[in-house]
Amino acid sequence: MSLLEVTDLTKEFGDLTAVDDVSLEVEDGEFVTILGPSGSGKSTILRMVAGFEEPTEGSIVIGGDDVTDEPPFKRDVNMMFQDLALFPHLTVAENIGYGLKQQGVPPEERKERIEDILEVVRLSDYGDRAPEELSGGEQQRVALARAIVNEPKLMLFDEPLGSLDRKLRQHMQFELQRIQAETGITSLYVTHDQEIAMSISDRLILLNEGDIEQSGTVEDLYDRPASQFVADFLGDVNTVSATVESSQNGELTLSLDDTETSLVVSKDDVRSLDEHRTGSSVDLCVRPHNVDLSDTDTGQSVPGTVANRIYKGEGVTYLIEAGTTTYKATVEDGDFSIGDDVYLSWDADEAYIFGEE
Ligand code: ADP
Ligand code: MG
Repeated sequence: MSLLEVTDLTKEFGDLTAVDDVSLEVEDGEFVTILGPSGSGKSTILRMVAGFEEPTEGSIVIGGDDVTDEPPFKRDVNMMFQDLALFPHLTVAENIGYGLKQQGVPPEERKERIEDILEVVRLSDYGDRAPEELSGGEQQRVALARAIVNEPKLMLFDEPLGSLDRKLRQHMQFELQRIQAETGITSLYVTHDQEIAMSISDRLILLNEGDIEQSGTVEDLYDRPASQFVADFLGDVNTVSATVESSQNGELTLSLDDTETSLVVSKDDVRSLDEHRTGSSVDLCVRPHNVDLSDTDTGQSVPGTVANRIYKGEGVTYLIEAGTTTYKATVEDGDFSIGDDVYLSWDADEAYIFGEE
C-alpha cells in the first residue's frame, strides 16, 4: 500500500482549473518530485495534501486513512517552504525542539531527539547558537531538522532551496538526499528546477497546466519522453518539424520541412501518432549529445554549416545552421571551424518523433 494516495484531485479557483484530475501515489520511503513550470499547480497539490486548501474534487489518503476532510493538524505531515521562518530569539536547539515542547514531550527525551537530529543534519555543535549566527545553508538545515524531528509520516517540500545561490543549492540538494536516505522519511518535493529534480528524485511527476504529462524514473522521462513538452522540459533538445512522406512495413520516411532532407525512422519510435498518414506533420526531437557530426554525407544526414563552437568541460557544443533550424550538437572532440560544411546524423532510436495528439 502506498503511503500517499491522491485520487482524481481537482482544484478550481473560479473559472481557473489549477489542478485537473490528478492521481498520484508515493510509496513508503520514496522521494518523489513534482516538476513543472511556474503556475502548473504544484503548490496547490501540496497545499491540498497538507490540508491548507480544500479540494474541489478527489481524495487524499495518507497511511491508509482518508484525510480529505481532516484539518492540517490531524494529518501526520510537515511542510517546508522557501521561507524558513526560524524564531530569531530562540537558539537552534530551541527552534528544533519547539514543536516537541508543544506536544508535551518531556525535557530529557526532547534533548535526546534534538541531539540526534542535529547529528543527522551535521550541526552537532550548533545547538546553542542563534539563527543569525548561521550561514544560509546552515539555517536551511535547522529548518529541515525542525520539520523532521517529530518524524512525520510524510514530508512535503515546496521549493525549499529556491532562495539559495547556485553553489549552495547544489550542496543542499545532496544534503537533502543524504538526510532523506538516512532517515527514510517519505518525501514529496516540488520544484520548477529540472536539475534539482533530476538529481534528487527516485521518481518524477511532470506537471503541465494542472495535468500530469508523464511520471516515472528520471531515465524514463529523459530517454523515453512521452511528449515534446517532456523532452523539452528535461534537458536540451533540438526540435524540427517534418512531414510523413510514406509509410510502409515498419518504417516511415520523413521529410524535414526546412531542409527537405529525407530520413527513414522506425514506426516504433513514433509517439502519440495513431495513424502514420502520408502528409501528417510531426516534430522530430533529438538531444544535442546524440547528434553526430561528419564531413561526409551518410545518406541519412542533414547538411548544415557550423555557426559557432562553444567549449564545455566535457566536450564541444557546435551550433549548426541547417535550413531555418539551428541545431546544437555536443561532441567529445571535433575539428570543425566556423563556416565549415558538415552533416548531422543520429541513431534512429535516439530521435523522438511526436505526432499530432
Ligand atoms: P505552481 O506552484 O506550480 O507555480 P500554483 O499551484 O501556485 O502553481 O498555482 C496554479 C494556478 O492556480 C496558477 O494559475 C495560480 O495563479 C492559481 N492560484 C493558486 N492559488 C490561487 C488562489 N488562492 N486563488 C486563485 N488562483 C490561485
Ligand atoms: Mg509554487
